[in-house]
Amino acid sequence: MAKDRKGINMPMKRNRGGLKKKQRNRKIVYVVSVITITIILIGAAVAFVDRDNLPEYAYTTNRSEEAYKIAVEIPGILDKAKCYCGCDKVRNKQFPRGHQSLKHCYMDDKGRFSDHAVYCDMCMLEVFDIYEMYQDNVPADEIRIRIDRKYG
Ligand SMILES: [Zn+2]
Repeated sequence: MAKDRKGINMPMKRNRGGLKKKQRNRKIVYVVSVITITIILIGAAVAFVDRDNLPEYAYTTNRSEEAYKIAVEIPGILDKAKCYCGCDKVRNKQFPRGHQSLKHCYMDDKGRFSDHAVYCDMCMLEVFDIYEMYQDNVPADEIRIRIDRKYG
Protein backbone atom coordinates (compact mmCIF):
# COMPACT_ATOMS: atom_id res chain seq x y z
CA MET A 1 0.00 0.00 0.00
CA ALA A 2 2.64 2.53 1.01
CA LYS A 3 4.74 1.70 -2.02
CA ASP A 4 1.83 2.25 -4.37
CA ARG A 5 1.01 5.60 -2.88
CA LYS A 6 4.64 6.66 -3.03
CA GLY A 7 4.82 5.62 -6.68
CA ILE A 8 1.79 7.67 -7.59
CA ASN A 9 2.89 10.73 -5.68
CA MET A 10 6.52 10.70 -6.85
CA PRO A 11 6.38 13.02 -9.87
CA MET A 12 4.46 15.75 -8.09
CA LYS A 13 6.37 15.71 -4.83
CA ARG A 14 10.01 15.43 -5.69
CA ASN A 15 11.07 18.19 -3.31
CA ARG A 16 9.03 16.81 -0.54
CA GLY A 17 10.74 13.50 -1.17
CA GLY A 18 14.09 15.10 -0.30
CA LEU A 19 12.60 16.62 2.79
CA LYS A 20 11.16 13.28 3.72
CA LYS A 21 14.64 11.79 3.53
CA LYS A 22 15.87 14.34 6.06
CA GLN A 23 12.89 13.62 8.24
CA ARG A 24 13.59 9.95 7.94
CA ASN A 25 17.22 10.46 8.99
CA ARG A 26 16.02 12.50 11.92
CA LYS A 27 13.60 9.73 12.75
CA ILE A 28 16.42 7.15 12.68
CA VAL A 29 18.52 9.32 14.99
CA TYR A 30 15.53 9.65 17.27
CA VAL A 31 14.82 5.91 17.30
CA VAL A 32 18.49 5.09 17.90
CA SER A 33 18.60 7.60 20.76
CA VAL A 34 15.47 6.16 22.33
CA ILE A 35 16.84 2.62 22.05
CA THR A 36 20.19 3.69 23.53
CA ILE A 37 18.54 5.51 26.43
CA THR A 38 16.22 2.56 27.02
CA ILE A 39 19.18 0.15 27.15
CA ILE A 40 21.00 2.44 29.60
CA LEU A 41 17.88 2.74 31.79
CA ILE A 42 17.28 -1.02 31.78
CA GLY A 43 20.94 -1.56 32.65
CA ALA A 44 20.68 0.90 35.53
CA ALA A 45 17.42 -0.67 36.72
CA VAL A 46 18.91 -4.17 36.64
CA ALA A 47 22.00 -2.95 38.48
CA PHE A 48 19.77 -1.23 41.04
CA VAL A 49 17.43 -4.15 41.68
CA ASP A 50 20.23 -6.66 41.47
CA ARG A 51 22.75 -4.71 43.55
CA ASP A 52 22.77 -7.36 46.27
CA ASN A 53 19.81 -9.51 45.37
CA LEU A 54 18.14 -8.13 48.47
CA PRO A 55 14.44 -7.36 48.89
CA GLU A 56 13.49 -3.70 49.14
CA TYR A 57 12.77 -3.85 52.91
CA ALA A 58 16.39 -4.82 53.56
CA TYR A 59 17.27 -1.21 52.79
CA THR A 60 14.98 0.22 55.48
CA THR A 61 18.00 1.42 57.49
CA ASN A 62 21.76 1.32 57.04
CA ARG A 63 21.90 -1.26 59.81
CA SER A 64 19.33 -3.53 58.21
CA GLU A 65 21.08 -3.23 54.84
CA GLU A 66 24.37 -4.21 56.45
CA ALA A 67 22.79 -7.10 58.36
CA TYR A 68 21.03 -8.56 55.29
CA LYS A 69 24.23 -8.27 53.26
CA ILE A 70 26.04 -10.28 55.93
CA ALA A 71 23.21 -12.84 56.01
CA VAL A 72 23.58 -13.35 52.26
CA GLU A 73 27.35 -13.63 52.61
CA ILE A 74 27.53 -16.17 55.46
CA PRO A 75 24.14 -17.94 55.73
CA GLY A 76 25.83 -21.19 56.73
CA ILE A 77 27.39 -19.64 59.81
CA LEU A 78 24.17 -17.87 60.83
CA ASP A 79 22.43 -21.23 60.44
CA LYS A 80 24.60 -22.64 63.23
CA ALA A 81 23.75 -19.82 65.65
CA LYS A 82 20.60 -19.46 67.68
CA CYS A 83 18.51 -16.28 67.72
CA TYR A 84 17.39 -15.20 71.18
CA CYS A 85 14.74 -12.69 70.16
CA GLY A 86 11.94 -15.22 70.75
CA CYS A 87 11.40 -15.90 67.06
CA ASP A 88 11.75 -19.66 67.65
CA LYS A 89 8.24 -19.50 69.12
CA VAL A 90 6.67 -17.46 66.34
CA ARG A 91 4.74 -19.59 63.86
CA ASN A 92 3.74 -18.32 60.44
CA LYS A 93 3.28 -19.59 56.90
CA GLN A 94 6.95 -19.22 55.97
CA PHE A 95 8.17 -20.71 59.27
CA PRO A 96 5.52 -23.16 60.50
CA ARG A 97 7.96 -24.46 63.14
CA GLY A 98 9.34 -21.06 64.09
CA HIS A 99 12.88 -19.88 63.43
CA GLN A 100 15.28 -22.78 63.84
CA SER A 101 18.38 -20.57 63.63
CA LEU A 102 19.50 -16.96 63.27
CA LYS A 103 19.54 -17.48 59.51
CA HIS A 104 15.76 -17.80 59.55
CA CYS A 105 15.44 -14.21 60.77
CA TYR A 106 16.72 -13.29 57.29
CA MET A 107 15.76 -16.14 55.00
CA ASP A 108 14.29 -19.62 55.01
CA ASP A 109 16.06 -22.79 53.89
CA LYS A 110 14.89 -22.24 50.32
CA GLY A 111 16.64 -18.86 50.27
CA ARG A 112 13.40 -16.86 50.36
CA PHE A 113 13.89 -13.73 52.39
CA SER A 114 12.01 -12.79 55.54
CA ASP A 115 11.53 -9.19 56.70
CA HIS A 116 11.69 -10.26 60.36
CA ALA A 117 15.21 -8.95 61.07
CA VAL A 118 14.41 -5.46 59.78
CA TYR A 119 12.30 -4.93 62.91
CA CYS A 120 14.45 -6.96 65.31
CA ASP A 121 17.44 -5.26 66.88
CA MET A 122 18.71 -8.43 68.51
CA CYS A 123 18.68 -10.29 65.18
CA MET A 124 20.93 -7.57 63.77
CA LEU A 125 23.21 -7.24 66.82
CA GLU A 126 23.89 -10.97 66.80
CA VAL A 127 24.73 -10.87 63.10
CA PHE A 128 27.14 -7.95 63.57
CA ASP A 129 28.85 -9.81 66.43
CA ILE A 130 29.06 -12.97 64.36
CA TYR A 131 30.48 -11.16 61.36
CA GLU A 132 33.19 -9.61 63.49
CA MET A 133 34.13 -13.06 64.83
CA TYR A 134 33.94 -14.51 61.33
CA GLN A 135 36.38 -11.89 60.09
CA ASP A 136 38.67 -12.78 63.00
CA ASN A 137 38.59 -16.40 61.76
CA VAL A 138 36.71 -17.68 64.82
CA PRO A 139 35.30 -21.14 63.91
CA ALA A 140 31.50 -21.46 63.55
CA ASP A 141 31.19 -23.76 66.58
CA GLU A 142 33.06 -21.27 68.76
CA ILE A 143 30.92 -18.43 67.36
CA ARG A 144 27.84 -20.33 68.44
CA ILE A 145 29.19 -20.80 71.97
CA ARG A 146 30.08 -17.13 72.33
CA ILE A 147 26.66 -16.03 71.04
CA ASP A 148 24.92 -18.40 73.48
CA ARG A 149 27.01 -17.01 76.30
CA LYS A 150 26.31 -13.38 75.40
CA TYR A 151 22.63 -13.51 74.44
CA GLY A 152 21.37 -16.73 76.00
ZN1 LIG B 1 15.24 -13.54 65.50
